[in-house]
Parts: sequence; structure tokens; C-alpha cells
Amino acid sequence: MISDEIQRITAQLPAGVRLVAVSKYHPAEAIREAYSAGQRLFGESHAQEIQQKHTVLADLAGLEWHFIGHLQTNKVKYIAPYVSLVHSADSPRLLTEINKQAVKAGRTIRCLLQLHVAAEETKFGFTPDEALAYLDSGTWRGLEGVELAGVMAMATNTDDIVRIRADFHRARQFFERAQTYFSSFSSPTGGGREGAFTELSMGMSDDWHIAIDEGATLIRIGTQIFGQRQY
Ligand SMILES: *Cc1c(COP(=O)(O)O)cnc(C)c1O
Repeated sequence: MISDEIQRITAQLPAGVRLVAVSKYHPAEAIREAYSAGQRLFGESHAQEIQQKHTVLADLAGLEWHFIGHLQTNKVKYIAPYVSLVHSADSPRLLTEINKQAVKAGRTIRCLLQLHVAAEETKFGFTPDEALAYLDSGTWRGLEGVELAGVMAMATNTDDIVRIRADFHRARQFFERAQTYFSSFSSPTGGGREGAFTELSMGMSDDWHIAIDEGATLIRIGTQIFGQRQY
């Protein structure tokens, strides 16, 4: 049962760790069931799907939509009016577009820098060095509609828990380094972003216990809650 899984997971979360229920490829009714069990944060990874669900579920007060998948720049405009956290800000170009659409929508959108720490080749995400270079570039300071809120990472897709832990550990090291970087700005210019770099999003159905050990503040769980994805 969806509600049992939500309760089982949330009962194990230390203070300061929140659950994002990853509802991609599951119907709106599954989200309603999770909501009834008290779940409020939902993660989706396709612009069209989150758009449909947002419309159908508009009656659920306090529900927060998190975008967790690769976001194409031409889709940002569809989700900018309501998305509460983009976990997958994976390039300077995407951040610039999120800023543009956030300003248009009269909002500030919280974004996490997606860090590439896994062994798999992927074109998505900043390496830790690229992310530091991005922070150093200062470009983010001009993005009035974006609040850099932390870091998201995925571990290597493997059964090797030593490797998984090492990946999460690298993400955490970057996260702490970036926090130090932000805290070096004493003035509140930049929309107060400096104090807001607080989220470390990591951990999925198979590895969230390790992620919490390594300092995650947001875990993203789909399969364990909703079962196999349906379409
Ligand atoms: C699908 C997805 C998840 C959830 O994965 P499960 O293994 O089903 O828990 C978490 N994070 C991201 C980025 C995803 O795309």
C-alpha cells in the first residue's frame, strides 16, 4: 500500500531529512493516495506529465511539485509558474532560462545544482570542478529569479555499496565546499541566496539509507512507494 510505504519511510527519517515521492509514470490517483497519507512533496521528470498532474490535482492544498529529470530549456516555461524546486539544474544555460521564465512568472525558483559524480557517462550535470567554476564565475548573482538552494546527485547504478557511498560522499564534499563559498559573502545582496544553500538531494529506492548516512536532506523515492512504473 502506498500509504504504508510512506509511513514506513517517513518514520525512519532523521530530523532535517524530507521525502520527495517520485510519482513519474504513476497516475494522479496514486498521488492522491500518498497525499492522504500526509505526503506533500512530489517529484516528476517530464514537463508534460507534471503539467497535466498539476492541473488535475490543483485542489490538493500544500502539495509541492519538484522537477527531478533532465529539463529541456524549451519546456521551462510550462513549469515555471508553479514548480517549487528544480533538482536537476544541470547547465548554466538551463539556469539562465529558468531565471528568465521565473522573472516572467513573477517568482523566484529554487534550484539545485545537479552534480555528476557517478561512473556512468552522461551529458547531464556539472562535474564538481565545473560547478565550482560556475560559482566562481558569479553568473548566478545576476539571476534574480533563481535561488541556488543546494546540490542534487545520483550514485553509480551498481550493487557495490562502497562505490555508492563514495559517490554520495563526493557530492557532500562539494556541497559543504559550496556552503563555505556562499557564507563568505557577508552582504545579503543576491536575494539572500547565501543563506539558502541548504539542500542535499540524494538517495533513491535502493540507496537512500546510505544517502542519509552521507548527509542527504532530501531523498527521492519512487519504486519503493508506488511500485513499478506503469506507463
Ligand atoms: C526516477 C527517479 C528517482 C526515483 O527512483 P526509484 O528507484 O524509483 O526510487 C529518483 N531520482 C531521479 C532523478 C529519478 O529520475
